[in-house]
Amino acid sequence: MDSVFGRALVTGGAGFLGSHLCELLLDTGAEVVAADNFATSDAANVAHLLERPRFHLVSQDITAQATLPGPFDVVFHLASAASPRDYFRLPLETLRAGSYGTERALDVAARDGARFVLASTSEVYGDPHEHPQREDYWGNVNPIGPRSVYDEAKRYAEALTSAMRRERGVNTGIARIFNTYGPRMRADDGRMIPEFIGQALRGAPLTVTGDGRQTRSICYVDDTVRGLLALARSGSPGPVNLGNPQELTVLRIAEEILAVTGSTSRIEHVEAAVDDPARRCPDISRARRELGWVPEISMAEGLPRTVAWFARRLS
Ligand code: NAD
Ligand code: UDP
Repeated sequence: MDSVFGRALVTGGAGFLGSHLCELLLDTGAEVVAADNFATSDAANVAHLLERPRFHLVSQDITAQATLPGPFDVVFHLASAASPRDYFRLPLETLRAGSYGTERALDVAARDGARFVLASTSEVYGDPHEHPQREDYWGNVNPIGPRSVYDEAKRYAEALTSAMRRERGVNTGIARIFNTYGPRMRADDGRMIPEFIGQALRGAPLTVTGDGRQTRSICYVDDTVRGLLALARSGSPGPVNLGNPQELTVLRIAEEILAVTGSTSRIEHVEAAVDDPARRCPDISRARRELGWVPEISMAEGLPRTVAWFARRLS
């Protein structure tokens, strides 16, 4: 793959998505600085990259006033808790990562004249009234509910990114990422896929919230990080949905995981989560049109790869 960016900064670079993005950038020949405070990740995610001379891991809280080494050609801002369990545990830190953290990352991009990519989320649509979700839908978010620390931080981050583009001419792009899964998710991060896989492999019941008829559209990590790179290269301001439009109920995803693991675990219905979005599915026409991006890895390919990784980790 051709290198377009000489030097890249990835905030949250030791996380699940960040570690895969760093790897992809290194494969293009870029020099990569990953800045992370390990609030929700493990340095083990990037241990295999440390021997690559063009990779640098910096231990840093992106919300703190500190100088990040530069100059950079591109800044990817991924630093933020992302799983509901993590942001319920770290509500103020999550708000800070979206606000001060985004401002610091944007300042670096402004300083260096770099392309800036914000890792926003489908959560900006909240519990959507429009379906599938297009980028021109403004969303339905409870501003004071428990999920708001994440949703509103990301909405603020989008507002700040848009203002910096208008006021200071920063070359920004906003990605709205839908549920992504794959190797290097934390086994205990509480998100549906690692939770169900761990439960299935242990022979424990799969804890499906509510009646399990709520839907999600799950995208394999390689597709998502390829989309982030395509957005960076495109110059598009976005926002651009990045997700796999195959919409499935949570119950169906649990059943698929039982089939892939060959587990005899049963499904146990537990209390529904507060403000849990009932349906979520991206309209990806804009990504297709502006980035030439579509997901390529189906659940039939992605789930077995993910299960194999977790099985190795847990054994
Ligand atoms: P993750 O928790 O694995 O990674 C986030 C990383 O950010 C972690 O390494 C964490 O330690 C780091 N971090 C958090 N606060 C920080 C701070 N103040 N300073 C420096 N580092 C900090 O989560 P992920 O799934 O890889 O998500 C990465 C980004 O993508 C997040 O911004 C998330 O909101 C966004 N996103 C992810 C998904 C998904 O399905 N994985 C969906 C939508 C959006
Ligand atoms: N969920 C579930 N059991 C779990 C964890 C999550 O049924 O152990 C449900 C959750 O209530 C939501 C869906 O799975 O309806 C996706 O949750 P996740 O935390 O993965 O991501 P979200 O889309 O909510 O950010």
